[in-house]
Amino acid sequence: MIKRGKTPQHKCSFCGRGEDDVMILVSGLDGQICEACTEKSQEIIDQELRRAGVEPQRSDNAVAVKSNPFSGPLKVIPPREIKAFLDKYVIGQDDAKKVLSVAVYNHYKRLQQEEKGSLKTDEDVDIEKSNVLFVGQTGTGKTLLAKSIAKLLNVPFTIVDATIFTEAGYVGEDVESILSRLLQVCDYDEKAAERGIVFIDEIDKIARKQDNPSITRDVSGEGVQQGMLKMLEGSEVLVPPQGGRKHPEQKLVKINTQNILFICGGAFDGIEKIIARRVNTQVIGYNKKESDDIDKENLLQYISPQDVKNFGLIPELVGRMPVVAHLDPLDINSLRRILTEPRNALVRQYEKIFSMEGIKLIIEPSAIDMIAEKAFDFKLGARGLRSLCETILTDAMFDLPTIGVGKGEKQQLIIDAAYVKSKVEGAKRAKLKAA
Ligand code: ADP
Repeated sequence: MIKRGKTPQHKCSFCGRGEDDVMILVSGLDGQICEACTEKSQEIIDQELRRAGVEPQRSDNAVAVKSNPFSGPLKVIPPREIKAFLDKYVIGQDDAKKVLSVAVYNHYKRLQQEEKGSLKTDEDVDIEKSNVLFVGQTGTGKTLLAKSIAKLLNVPFTIVDATIFTEAGYVGEDVESILSRLLQVCDYDEKAAERGIVFIDEIDKIARKQDNPSITRDVSGEGVQQGMLKMLEGSEVLVPPQGGRKHPEQKLVKINTQNILFICGGAFDGIEKIIARRVNTQVIGYNKKESDDIDKENLLQYISPQDVKNFGLIPELVGRMPVVAHLDPLDINSLRRILTEPRNALVRQYEKIFSMEGIKLIIEPSAIDMIAEKAFDFKLGARGLRSLCETILTDAMFDLPTIGVGKGEKQQLIIDAAYVKSKVEGAKRAKLKAA
C-alpha cells in the first residue's frame, strides 16, 4: 500500500526518513518501510540466499520495479486529498490548487483507462488530457505548487524553464529536450516517461515579441511555440536522450506524448492591462453598473485564454492549454502566514539554524507583522521575505556562533519589531530589492 499525504507523522522504521523525504512508504502492522530500504533488504536477502547456495529467483516484473520506482501500480488520489496535501506547503491560491488537483486526478484516471480500459463506458469515449496554464505574479507560488505536487506523485515529474529553448538552428536547446529531462527522471524508461507530468515555467517569456517582428528573428519566441505544439497536443516526438540540440549521428528516442500532462506557468507581466481592456469593453457593452463589481486590485482572477493570446502566445498553443488558472497576488496577511505556517516556513528554518547553535530564536508576532508589511511594500511576492529575513538575521548568524547570546544568560534571541526596524532601516533599500 502506498501511503501519501494523510499521515504526516509516518516514518520509515528502518532509516527514519519521513514520508516527505521518500517516494513510497509501505505500511505494515507496526511500522513502515521506504523504497530505498526495501531495495537494500532485497540485496541482503539475495546475499544470504547466495551464501546458502541458492540463486535468487526474480521475475522480470520484480526487476522492473526495483530499477524504476514509477513502474508500480498507480495510486489514484482524489482531488480533495491532493488539495489538502498542497495546503500543507502552499498558502492561499485555492483556485490554482483546485485546478491542479483536478488536472492531476484526471491524469491518473486517464492512465488507468489506458491500463485497464475500466473507465471506458463506451469504446469511442477517450478521456483527453487537459494541459493547464498558471498565470500569476512572480513569487506567488507557481513553482512551489509544482514542486509540492511532485512530492505526492508516483508518476515521473520534471520542471523545465521555457527560456532555455530556441528555434531549431540557433544556439540553445531544442524543445524536445523537455522530454529528455522526463526520461532522465525515470532512468530512461520510455513507458514510464509517457505517463509523466511536465511543468514548463516562464512560458510567458516565449511570447511573440509584437514590437519587432521583422528586423530581428524571433528565435526564442514564436518558433519555440510552434515547436511545442506537437508535443503538447500528443504525438510521437523524437527526443535526444541527453537533452540539448539534436544532431544527425545521435540516437533518438521516440516518445508518445499523448498521456503526458503539461502544466505551464508564467508571470505574464502587464497582462492585467489586456484583461482590464477586455473586461471594461464587455461591461460597457452590456451593463454599465456591473463595472463596480470588478475587483480592480486583482484583475488576474478574470483571466481568459483570449487574454493570453493577446499577450503573445499563438492561438494554437493557447488552445492546447484549455485550463487557465490564476494565482492571487499575496497580501500582507498571506505573507505573514507564509512566514510561519507552511511545513518548510522561513521562521521554522531560521529557528532550526539557531537551535543548531544551541540558541532558541523567538520572533515576536509584532516582528512578523513588520516583516510581512515590508515584504508587501517591496512587491516581490514571497521572495522578498527571504531577503528581508537574511537582512534582519545576518548579524546574529555571524556573531552568535562565536560569542553566544551572553554569559550566564538564557541562550535565546528575541526579535521584536524595533529590532526588525533597526536592521531594515540600516540596510540599503536597493540592496534588498536586488536580492
Ligand atoms: P513563482 O510564482 O515565481 O514561481 P515561487 O513558487 O518560486 O514563485 O515562490 C518563491 C518562494 O516564495 C517559494 O520558495 C516559497 O517559499 C515562497 N512562496 C511563494 N508563494 C507562496 C505561497 N502561496 N505559500 C507559501 N510559500 C510561498
